[in-house]
Amino acid sequence: MKLEPIIGLEIHTQLKTKSKMFCACSNTPDNTKPNSAVCPICLGHPGTLPSLNEQVVDCAIKLALALNLKINSNSVFERKNYFYPDLPSGYQISQFEYPLSENGFLVIEENDKKTKIGIERLHIENDSAKSMHVDGETLVDFNRAGTPLAEIVTNPDFRSPQQAKLFLQKLRQICRYLNVSDADMEKGNLRCDVNISMRPIGDTKLYPKTEIKNLNSFRSVEKAIEYEIKRQTELWEKDERPKIQTTRGYIDAKQITELQREKEESNDYRYFPEPDLNPLIVSKQKIQKLSIEIPELPDEKIKRFVSEYILTKNEAEVLSNTIEISSYFENTVSEFKTLISEKEYKKEKQKITKLINGWITSELFKLINKENMNISEIKITPYDFAKFISFIYKNTINSSNAQKVLKLMFDNGSDPEVIIKENDFSQINDESVLKQLAQKIIDNNKNQVEEYKSGKENLMKYFIGIAMKESKGKANPEIIENILKNKLK
Ligand code: ZN
Ligand code: MN
Repeated sequence: MKLEPIIGLEIHTQLKTKSKMFCACSNTPDNTKPNSAVCPICLGHPGTLPSLNEQVVDCAIKLALALNLKINSNSVFERKNYFYPDLPSGYQISQFEYPLSENGFLVIEENDKKTKIGIERLHIENDSAKSMHVDGETLVDFNRAGTPLAEIVTNPDFRSPQQAKLFLQKLRQICRYLNVSDADMEKGNLRCDVNISMRPIGDTKLYPKTEIKNLNSFRSVEKAIEYEIKRQTELWEKDERPKIQTTRGYIDAKQITELQREKEESNDYRYFPEPDLNPLIVSKQKIQKLSIEIPELPDEKIKRFVSEYILTKNEAEVLSNTIEISSYFENTVSEFKTLISEKEYKKEKQKITKLINGWITSELFKLINKENMNISEIKITPYDFAKFISFIYKNTINSSNAQKVLKLMFDNGSDPEVIIKENDFSQINDESVLKQLAQKIIDNNKNQVEEYKSGKENLMKYFIGIAMKESKGKANPEIIENILKNKLK
């Protein structure tokens, strides 16, 4: 019997709002001293009333629209009742029967194979406080209590750990494009539970699932699913397949899952409408206004970059990784256009965009990664970067000196033109000067010239090396090579 895994995800995303969901406390749970961003409302004191932060709704609607969900004009907040030390009111304000949005999808792509993952719903709810276990004691930090979450529930459409990981990575990218969440799994602002069961291929029924909690990295999502597939497959093979729904925890250090409890059904939470909040009404105008604010998303951007800048899909993907990178690229291209004629740009477009793409994603990325910076923080303006590229394009500097120029620009933010002048970096393209240099090399290396002539052709590299050294790196290597080849024929 061949089995396949049936996997669904439940994801909590911390929304990036100024204040918490139902009070005015600041929503910076990790950047403030423990228990400093709290008030009677988020501490769940009796007699306090929640009032909904509209920015939470706006962020959630944008995310829902980007995930192709339908926004419900009416949704209802409900209390999800349970006891936990980090939940001071004894209930979470969530949405249950009437969520903010339903019925969406996201397409993921794996080696050019596209899979459409259905999204059942996206609703909003407040987060609990954070328990910390220190030296055998448990401490609670209430800064996180009442911060806003969007909960996304997918359909069980994943068939492999890789697909689940790709979905999460794409979701993270979209959250960042929209600037609605940092979606950093390691920091806990993107948290994921996995639902997984196995079934014989061809079967359409769903079998009791296992829910895996506490996954806080892409790697642990992948590893936990891999482990569960193995564990459940073995059970099926022994004819002991899971008969009831269970919750398991993932133990990162051992890369295994462990039984925590038999799952509570949703009626165990005794959901009922939150009496202190009105139903949430979302107007068509609001949806329209927010949809205009949604930027071009990665998939569209990649397509446009391929056609507009004649890049490969892979190049376009790298440049579209973040909005900051893609803007830097596009701003550089448009600055470059001001440095040459329109006619020349049209004729040499591919050469130019490849050059800009190449220097951003190799040399500039190297410098940025070394300093652990974001491209939006660097000192080089797109205008100066375009000017720098134009010097390479026009052969004013060769690529080894170009690297030195870029480093100086990166360190000091200075004008590449000034750097080239001050350091005398400009390339020697003058043939008569290079001919003299070639002759000098030939005269001074008689033995090597003989060897070259008798067939040891890789000595050409040696001659060019001397030329570069003699000219302090300024000789145009292609021209000098041609001259040498002609002279040594
Ligand atoms: Zn508060
Ligand atoms: Mn939830």
